[in-house]
Amino acid sequence: MSGPRVRFAPSPTGYFHVGSARSALFNWLVARQDPAGVFILRVEDTDAERNREDWVEGIYSAMAWLGLTLDEGPFRQSDNFAAHDSAAQLLRRSGYLYYCDCSLAQIEKRKGPGATPGYDGYCRDRGVERGTKTALRFRTPQEGVTVVHDLIRGDVEFVNNLIEDFVVVRSSGIVLYALANVTDDRHDRITHIIRGEEHLANAPKQMMLWEALNAATGDEVPLALYAHLPLLVNEQRKKLSKRKDPVATETYRDQGYLAEAFVNYLALLGWSPRGDEEIVPLATLIEQFRLEDVSHSPAFFDVKKLTHLNGEYLRALSPDEFVERSKPWVRPWSSAWQPSDREPPWREDQFDKYLYARVAPLVQERVATLGEIPSMVAFFFLDLVELDEASFAKVIKDDPLGRDLLRGAVRRFELLVSWDAVSLHDATVEVGEELGLTLRKAQAPIRCAVTGTLVGPPLFESLELLGRKKSIERLRAALERV
Ligand code: GLU
Repeated sequence: MSGPRVRFAPSPTGYFHVGSARSALFNWLVARQDPAGVFILRVEDTDAERNREDWVEGIYSAMAWLGLTLDEGPFRQSDNFAAHDSAAQLLRRSGYLYYCDCSLAQIEKRKGPGATPGYDGYCRDRGVERGTKTALRFRTPQEGVTVVHDLIRGDVEFVNNLIEDFVVVRSSGIVLYALANVTDDRHDRITHIIRGEEHLANAPKQMMLWEALNAATGDEVPLALYAHLPLLVNEQRKKLSKRKDPVATETYRDQGYLAEAFVNYLALLGWSPRGDEEIVPLATLIEQFRLEDVSHSPAFFDVKKLTHLNGEYLRALSPDEFVERSKPWVRPWSSAWQPSDREPPWREDQFDKYLYARVAPLVQERVATLGEIPSMVAFFFLDLVELDEASFAKVIKDDPLGRDLLRGAVRRFELLVSWDAVSLHDATVEVGEELGLTLRKAQAPIRCAVTGTLVGPPLFESLELLGRKKSIERLRAALERV
């Protein structure tokens, strides 16, 4: 039984772009829908000048993070150079490719200003022999059209006459992307080519190469089906920019987005499941995903929506899971993987994992990413709270009522029989009432003195967990600072 054979073929030229992550996912979904489906990773690393080994590692680790398991590979395209080279030679011997010794300047000069861009076919029939400055070009048909049957866009027609005789092998001997890619796709018997829209214009050239190879080798490999995924755009509806938009998948991982939330979000970029549930489990994605249902209009990569979805996923975790998943951010020393540049503000000996287990449910309700946790819970573990000066001035230093409230709170808190959230709440209400303050106003100076800022986990539960001694010390310390 044979199922779809798909491949994800990234070039290791930078961080793992969210668009690449989506291409990888859509390929993977197609493979996983069929028990006989095969998902291949092929790293297209033939551009030595732009490739870097750490970008290759980045691809492997991002794929592992996303859970996009492979059935074959990872392959390195550079390992197949001999096959690309012999494909080129075969095509040349069969008349599909010809040598061309034109320099760019010569081409420009011949064509003069304002001419149609592209090569003018000068060397087509000149019988140029191989030399040190000869490239190999493909002899494109001068008549007819090439129709790309695209599962997403329908039939897209390209007029052959407008496709230049493109370079297949550079004079340096480097086999270019189009042929390397087709040679490998034929070799791997790829059935569906699922990739970003920016490659649509390459498709007719690649189809020509594919069919030329079929004829020249006598090995009739059925043409793969194409599916070009819609462009990802930012809020201004402009193509995502590597420089200006947050496009690196690694950054999302390091900020503490959950892989399953990220995958869920990626799946919605150009496609939507039945029903209007936001959270779509992986099994549903696999079951419902159809390339035919992918839209061809640009998809907005909405970081706010992604973040919101991540918060939903975080809240859906059990408390134990939440603690476990937050480990790389709060206890990096005991985690196999650590996010980069995200050390917690405490030292290992200051951290108390039992206390954290009790604190975690308080923040689970309030964070949208795991990376937000450390700053929110730092006051539990640091000996000294770092007071945010603006908040301190606003609710304590420049506010006599705030100071009265702190004094009243110290007095009452010291006398509490039981140090628990309910008693702390009631005591605060009472001090507030004496001063004519709402509970919200009454909480602010206490929160500021104890936690350093005006936002954070629920106050009374936090005070309970922090304990009487430390809480009262901090209230006094804030008063003394005035
Ligand atoms: N190496 C190409 C890229 O990264 C792959 C294109 C394709 O999937 O055919 O864009």
